[in-house]
Amino acid sequence: MKQLLSKNRNYYKANLHCHSTVSDGKCTPQELKTAYRKEGYSIIAFTDHNVMIPHHDLSDDNFLALTGYEIDLCEDYSVVGFPKVKACHLCLISLEKDKQQQICWHRTDYLQSNAVNYRDKVCFDETEPDFVRVYGPECINEIIRRGREANFFVTYNHPKWSMESLEQYKYYKNMNAVEIYNNMSFIEGRDEYNPDVYDDLLRDGKRIYCIATDDTHSFHPFGSPYNDSFGGFTMIQAECLTYESVAESLKNGNFYASTGPLIYDLSFNDGKVSIECSDSKVISLTTGIRTVQTVRAEKDKSVSKAVFDVGKGDVYFRITVTDEHGKYANTNAYFIDEL
Ligand SMILES: [Zn+2]
Ligand SMILES: [Zn+2]
Repeated sequence: MKQLLSKNRNYYKANLHCHSTVSDGKCTPQELKTAYRKEGYSIIAFTDHNVMIPHHDLSDDNFLALTGYEIDLCEDYSVVGFPKVKACHLCLISLEKDKQQQICWHRTDYLQSNAVNYRDKVCFDETEPDFVRVYGPECINEIIRRGREANFFVTYNHPKWSMESLEQYKYYKNMNAVEIYNNMSFIEGRDEYNPDVYDDLLRDGKRIYCIATDDTHSFHPFGSPYNDSFGGFTMIQAECLTYESVAESLKNGNFYASTGPLIYDLSFNDGKVSIECSDSKVISLTTGIRTVQTVRAEKDKSVSKAVFDVGKGDVYFRITVTDEHGKYANTNAYFIDEL
Protein backbone atom coordinates (compact mmCIF):
# COMPACT_ATOMS: atom_id res chain seq x y z
CA MET A 1 0.00 0.00 0.00
CA LYS A 2 1.18 3.49 -0.81
CA GLN A 3 0.16 6.13 1.72
CA LEU A 4 -0.09 9.42 -0.18
CA LEU A 5 -1.50 11.55 2.65
CA SER A 6 -1.94 10.18 6.16
CA LYS A 7 -4.25 11.03 9.04
CA ASN A 8 -1.48 9.81 11.36
CA ARG A 9 0.98 12.47 10.32
CA ASN A 10 1.13 16.24 10.92
CA TYR A 11 -0.59 18.69 8.62
CA TYR A 12 0.44 22.35 8.60
CA LYS A 13 -1.80 24.99 7.10
CA ALA A 14 0.11 27.27 4.73
CA ASN A 15 -0.37 30.39 2.66
CA LEU A 16 2.29 30.07 -0.03
CA HIS A 17 1.72 33.44 -1.72
CA CYS A 18 1.65 36.62 0.32
CA HIS A 19 2.59 40.30 -0.02
CA SER A 20 3.59 42.51 2.88
CA THR A 21 4.72 46.11 3.29
CA VAL A 22 8.00 44.96 1.75
CA SER A 23 6.17 45.44 -1.57
CA ASP A 24 2.50 46.36 -2.14
CA GLY A 25 0.79 44.53 0.74
CA LYS A 26 -0.92 46.52 3.48
CA CYS A 27 0.31 44.49 6.46
CA THR A 28 3.77 44.19 7.89
CA PRO A 29 5.20 40.66 8.00
CA GLN A 30 4.57 40.61 11.77
CA GLU A 31 0.90 41.65 11.33
CA LEU A 32 0.46 38.94 8.71
CA LYS A 33 1.92 36.36 11.06
CA THR A 34 -0.43 37.44 13.86
CA ALA A 35 -3.52 37.44 11.62
CA TYR A 36 -2.75 34.08 10.00
CA ARG A 37 -1.80 32.40 13.28
CA LYS A 38 -5.25 33.38 14.59
CA GLU A 39 -6.83 31.52 11.65
CA GLY A 40 -4.88 28.36 12.33
CA TYR A 41 -2.05 28.80 9.86
CA SER A 42 1.47 27.60 10.70
CA ILE A 43 3.30 28.66 7.55
CA ILE A 44 3.51 31.76 5.36
CA ALA A 45 5.76 32.01 2.31
CA PHE A 46 6.58 35.71 2.07
CA THR A 47 6.64 36.32 -1.67
CA ASP A 48 6.87 40.07 -2.08
CA HIS A 49 7.20 41.44 -5.60
CA ASN A 50 10.70 41.17 -7.04
CA VAL A 51 12.67 41.38 -3.78
CA MET A 52 13.57 38.40 -1.62
CA ILE A 53 13.80 39.40 2.03
CA PRO A 54 14.02 36.59 4.62
CA HIS A 55 11.85 36.84 7.75
CA HIS A 56 13.40 34.09 9.86
CA ASP A 57 12.99 36.30 12.93
CA LEU A 58 9.24 35.51 12.77
CA SER A 59 9.72 31.74 12.92
CA ASP A 60 9.13 30.02 16.25
CA ASP A 61 7.84 26.65 17.52
CA ASN A 62 4.39 27.30 15.99
CA PHE A 63 5.20 29.33 12.94
CA LEU A 64 7.48 29.04 9.94
CA ALA A 65 8.33 31.90 7.58
CA LEU A 66 9.41 30.65 4.16
CA THR A 67 11.62 32.91 2.06
CA GLY A 68 10.61 33.79 -1.46
CA TYR A 69 9.63 36.41 -4.00
CA GLU A 70 7.31 36.83 -6.95
CA ILE A 71 8.86 37.66 -10.29
CA ASP A 72 6.66 39.21 -12.96
CA LEU A 73 6.94 39.49 -16.70
CA CYS A 74 4.54 41.36 -18.90
CA GLU A 75 3.98 41.66 -22.60
CA ASP A 76 4.74 45.35 -22.83
CA TYR A 77 6.35 47.31 -20.00
CA SER A 78 5.62 50.61 -21.71
CA VAL A 79 1.84 50.18 -21.77
CA VAL A 80 0.24 52.36 -19.14
CA GLY A 81 -3.06 50.47 -19.35
CA PHE A 82 -1.48 47.66 -17.38
CA PRO A 83 -4.66 45.51 -17.31
CA LYS A 84 -4.61 45.15 -21.08
CA VAL A 85 -1.44 43.14 -21.44
CA LYS A 86 -0.69 39.49 -20.84
CA ALA A 87 1.62 38.66 -17.98
CA CYS A 88 3.35 35.73 -16.35
CA HIS A 89 3.97 35.68 -12.60
CA LEU A 90 6.04 33.06 -10.85
CA CYS A 91 6.72 32.65 -7.14
CA LEU A 92 10.14 31.36 -6.20
CA ILE A 93 10.18 29.87 -2.72
CA SER A 94 13.57 28.92 -1.37
CA LEU A 95 13.94 25.28 -0.37
CA GLU A 96 17.01 26.15 1.69
CA LYS A 97 16.71 28.20 4.82
CA ASP A 98 20.03 29.97 4.50
CA LYS A 99 19.84 30.80 0.84
CA GLN A 100 20.40 34.52 0.48
CA GLN A 101 20.92 35.03 -3.23
CA GLN A 102 18.09 36.11 -5.46
CA ILE A 103 18.30 34.94 -9.06
CA CYS A 104 17.51 36.84 -12.29
CA TRP A 105 18.23 40.14 -10.57
CA HIS A 106 18.36 43.51 -12.32
CA ARG A 107 20.23 46.28 -10.53
CA THR A 108 18.01 49.14 -11.68
CA ASP A 109 14.73 47.95 -13.24
CA TYR A 110 11.39 46.30 -12.43
CA LEU A 111 10.97 47.36 -8.81
CA GLN A 112 7.71 49.06 -7.86
CA SER A 113 5.91 50.08 -4.66
CA ASN A 114 7.80 49.67 -1.38
CA ALA A 115 10.06 47.07 -2.98
CA VAL A 116 12.17 49.99 -4.22
CA ASN A 117 13.22 50.64 -0.61
CA TYR A 118 14.54 47.11 -0.26
CA ARG A 119 16.78 47.15 -3.32
CA ASP A 120 19.96 47.46 -1.25
CA LYS A 121 18.96 44.59 1.03
CA VAL A 122 18.75 42.07 -1.80
CA CYS A 123 21.64 39.63 -2.15
CA PHE A 124 22.54 38.52 -5.63
CA ASP A 125 25.48 37.16 -7.58
CA GLU A 126 27.45 40.29 -8.37
CA THR A 127 29.34 38.58 -11.17
CA GLU A 128 26.08 38.09 -13.12
CA PRO A 129 24.95 40.73 -15.63
CA ASP A 130 21.52 42.37 -15.18
CA PHE A 131 18.74 39.98 -16.11
CA VAL A 132 16.50 41.54 -18.76
CA ARG A 133 12.92 40.28 -18.82
CA VAL A 134 11.28 39.54 -22.14
CA TYR A 135 7.74 38.16 -21.99
CA GLY A 136 7.76 34.83 -23.81
CA PRO A 137 8.53 31.16 -23.20
CA GLU A 138 12.26 31.49 -23.73
CA CYS A 139 12.83 33.98 -20.93
CA ILE A 140 10.22 32.41 -18.66
CA ASN A 141 11.85 28.99 -19.07
CA GLU A 142 15.23 30.52 -18.31
CA ILE A 143 13.88 31.89 -15.01
CA ILE A 144 12.34 28.53 -14.15
CA ARG A 145 15.54 26.69 -15.10
CA ARG A 146 17.72 28.97 -12.99
CA GLY A 147 15.21 28.86 -10.17
CA ARG A 148 15.11 25.09 -10.06
CA GLU A 149 18.89 24.89 -10.34
CA ALA A 150 19.23 27.23 -7.35
CA ASN A 151 16.82 25.04 -5.36
CA PHE A 152 13.69 27.17 -5.47
CA PHE A 153 10.15 25.79 -5.54
CA VAL A 154 8.67 27.50 -8.59
CA THR A 155 4.94 28.15 -8.81
CA TYR A 156 2.89 29.36 -11.77
CA ASN A 157 0.47 31.98 -10.50
CA HIS A 158 -3.06 33.14 -11.32
CA PRO A 159 -3.26 32.25 -15.05
CA LYS A 160 -6.69 33.95 -15.39
CA TRP A 161 -5.44 37.23 -13.89
CA SER A 162 -2.48 36.96 -16.26
CA MET A 163 -4.83 36.39 -19.22
CA GLU A 164 -2.75 33.40 -20.27
CA SER A 165 -4.10 30.28 -21.91
CA LEU A 166 -2.81 26.90 -23.05
CA GLU A 167 -1.19 28.71 -25.99
CA GLN A 168 1.20 30.30 -23.50
CA TYR A 169 1.55 27.93 -20.55
CA LYS A 170 2.02 24.76 -22.55
CA TYR A 171 5.53 26.02 -23.33
CA TYR A 172 6.51 26.62 -19.69
CA LYS A 173 8.68 23.76 -18.51
CA ASN A 174 9.47 22.28 -15.10
CA MET A 175 7.44 24.47 -12.77
CA ASN A 176 6.83 22.71 -9.45
CA ALA A 177 3.21 23.76 -9.01
CA VAL A 178 0.34 25.73 -10.48
CA GLU A 179 -2.13 27.82 -8.47
CA ILE A 180 -5.33 25.84 -8.80
CA TYR A 181 -6.86 28.68 -6.78
CA ASN A 182 -5.75 32.27 -6.17
CA ASN A 183 -7.93 34.13 -3.68
CA MET A 184 -6.94 37.71 -4.57
CA SER A 185 -7.94 37.23 -8.18
CA PHE A 186 -11.06 35.25 -7.25
CA ILE A 187 -12.24 37.89 -4.77
CA GLU A 188 -11.74 40.55 -7.43
CA GLY A 189 -14.19 38.61 -9.61
CA ARG A 190 -12.21 36.36 -11.94
CA ASP A 191 -12.85 32.64 -12.17
CA GLU A 192 -9.48 31.91 -10.61
CA TYR A 193 -10.32 28.33 -9.71
CA ASN A 194 -8.17 26.56 -12.27
CA PRO A 195 -8.77 22.79 -12.44
CA ASP A 196 -8.96 23.20 -16.23
CA VAL A 197 -5.49 24.72 -16.35
CA TYR A 198 -4.18 21.96 -14.09
CA ASP A 199 -5.54 19.23 -16.38
CA ASP A 200 -4.23 21.10 -19.45
CA LEU A 201 -0.72 21.00 -18.00
CA LEU A 202 -0.99 17.39 -16.83
CA ARG A 203 -2.43 16.15 -20.11
CA ASP A 204 0.37 17.93 -21.89
CA GLY A 205 2.69 15.56 -20.01
CA LYS A 206 3.87 17.89 -17.27
CA ARG A 207 4.34 16.37 -13.81
CA ILE A 208 3.27 19.28 -11.69
CA TYR A 209 1.61 19.85 -8.32
CA CYS A 210 -1.25 22.19 -7.43
CA ILE A 211 -1.53 24.71 -4.60
CA ALA A 212 -4.25 27.08 -3.38
CA THR A 213 -3.08 30.49 -2.17
CA ASP A 214 -4.36 33.85 -0.97
CA ASP A 215 -1.94 36.15 -2.81
CA THR A 216 -2.66 38.43 0.13
CA HIS A 217 -2.46 42.17 -0.48
CA SER A 218 -5.27 44.05 1.14
CA PHE A 219 -6.23 42.53 4.40
CA HIS A 220 -5.49 44.87 7.23
CA PRO A 221 -6.41 44.12 10.84
CA PHE A 222 -7.62 47.74 11.18
CA GLY A 223 -9.96 47.70 8.21
CA SER A 224 -9.64 47.27 4.45
CA PRO A 225 -11.79 47.68 1.32
CA TYR A 226 -11.89 43.94 0.87
CA ASN A 227 -10.30 40.97 2.44
CA ASP A 228 -8.23 38.68 0.29
CA SER A 229 -6.92 36.65 3.21
CA PHE A 230 -7.94 33.16 4.34
CA GLY A 231 -9.52 31.98 1.08
CA GLY A 232 -7.08 29.48 -0.41
CA PHE A 233 -4.64 27.37 1.57
CA THR A 234 -2.27 24.46 1.14
CA MET A 235 -2.11 21.72 3.76
CA ILE A 236 1.43 20.47 4.00
CA GLN A 237 2.15 17.09 5.53
CA ALA A 238 5.55 17.26 7.19
CA GLU A 239 7.53 15.53 9.91
CA CYS A 240 7.83 18.77 11.89
CA LEU A 241 7.64 22.53 11.46
CA THR A 242 11.24 23.13 10.47
CA TYR A 243 12.36 24.79 7.27
CA GLU A 244 14.12 21.61 6.14
CA SER A 245 11.17 19.33 6.79
CA VAL A 246 8.58 21.59 5.13
CA ALA A 247 10.86 22.21 2.14
CA GLU A 248 11.29 18.48 1.71
CA SER A 249 7.49 18.02 1.68
CA LEU A 250 7.04 20.78 -0.88
CA LYS A 251 9.63 19.18 -3.11
CA ASN A 252 7.97 15.78 -2.83
CA GLY A 253 4.38 16.96 -3.23
CA ASN A 254 3.25 15.97 0.27
CA PHE A 255 0.36 18.43 0.36
CA TYR A 256 -3.06 19.23 -1.01
CA ALA A 257 -4.84 22.46 -1.94
CA SER A 258 -8.13 23.71 -0.50
CA THR A 259 -10.59 26.55 -0.15
CA GLY A 260 -12.50 24.79 2.64
CA PRO A 261 -12.81 20.98 2.92
CA LEU A 262 -10.09 18.96 4.60
CA ILE A 263 -8.55 15.76 3.34
CA TYR A 264 -7.37 13.43 6.07
CA ASP A 265 -6.13 10.34 4.33
CA LEU A 266 -5.31 9.22 0.80
CA SER A 267 -3.88 5.84 -0.15
CA PHE A 268 -3.34 3.67 -3.18
CA ASN A 269 -3.46 -0.10 -2.99
CA ASP A 270 -3.70 -2.65 -5.75
CA GLY A 271 -5.54 -0.45 -8.25
CA LYS A 272 -7.78 1.20 -5.65
CA VAL A 273 -7.56 4.77 -4.34
CA SER A 274 -9.13 5.44 -0.93
CA ILE A 275 -9.82 8.88 0.46
CA GLU A 276 -11.11 10.15 3.82
CA CYS A 277 -12.17 13.79 4.13
CA SER A 278 -14.36 16.20 6.07
CA ASP A 279 -18.15 16.01 5.54
CA SER A 280 -18.78 16.89 1.93
CA LYS A 281 -21.31 16.68 -0.88
CA VAL A 282 -19.27 15.29 -3.76
CA ILE A 283 -16.01 13.38 -4.06
CA SER A 284 -14.86 13.01 -7.62
CA LEU A 285 -11.89 11.47 -9.36
CA THR A 286 -10.44 13.05 -12.50
CA THR A 287 -8.00 11.14 -14.69
CA GLY A 288 -5.68 11.82 -17.59
CA ILE A 289 -8.38 10.62 -19.96
CA ARG A 290 -12.13 11.22 -20.22
CA THR A 291 -12.96 8.81 -17.41
CA VAL A 292 -14.30 10.33 -14.18
CA GLN A 293 -15.84 8.70 -11.13
CA THR A 294 -18.06 10.42 -8.60
CA VAL A 295 -19.55 9.68 -5.20
CA ARG A 296 -22.42 11.99 -4.24
CA ALA A 297 -24.11 12.47 -0.89
CA GLU A 298 -27.81 11.64 -0.75
CA LYS A 299 -30.15 14.52 -0.02
CA ASP A 300 -29.55 15.99 3.48
CA LYS A 301 -26.62 13.66 4.01
CA SER A 302 -22.88 13.96 3.53
CA VAL A 303 -20.00 11.82 2.33
CA SER A 304 -16.57 11.60 3.91
CA LYS A 305 -15.08 8.51 2.27
CA ALA A 306 -14.72 7.07 -1.20
CA VAL A 307 -12.89 4.28 -2.99
CA PHE A 308 -12.16 4.45 -6.72
CA ASP A 309 -10.68 1.95 -9.17
CA VAL A 310 -7.83 3.23 -11.27
CA GLY A 311 -5.66 1.54 -13.87
CA LYS A 312 -2.61 2.22 -16.05
CA GLY A 313 -4.79 3.56 -18.87
CA ASP A 314 -5.95 6.41 -16.63
CA VAL A 315 -2.43 7.92 -16.79
CA TYR A 316 -2.97 9.93 -13.61
CA PHE A 317 -5.67 10.58 -11.07
CA ARG A 318 -6.52 13.49 -8.84
CA ILE A 319 -9.42 13.89 -6.44
CA THR A 320 -11.70 16.85 -5.82
CA VAL A 321 -13.81 17.15 -2.67
CA THR A 322 -16.70 19.64 -2.78
CA ASP A 323 -18.59 20.71 0.32
CA GLU A 324 -22.08 22.16 0.81
CA HIS A 325 -20.77 25.72 0.38
CA GLY A 326 -19.27 24.91 -3.01
CA LYS A 327 -15.73 25.02 -1.61
CA TYR A 328 -13.13 22.60 -2.95
CA ALA A 329 -10.20 20.53 -1.80
CA ASN A 330 -7.91 19.28 -4.55
CA THR A 331 -5.27 16.59 -4.26
CA ASN A 332 -2.19 16.66 -6.38
CA ALA A 333 -2.21 14.49 -9.48
CA TYR A 334 -0.62 11.08 -9.00
CA PHE A 335 0.78 9.33 -12.05
CA ILE A 336 0.05 5.62 -12.10
CA ASP A 337 3.51 4.73 -13.42
CA GLU A 338 5.05 6.29 -10.31
CA LEU A 339 2.90 4.47 -7.79
ZN1 LIG B 1 1.04 37.97 -9.24
ZN1 LIG C 1 1.23 38.01 -5.87
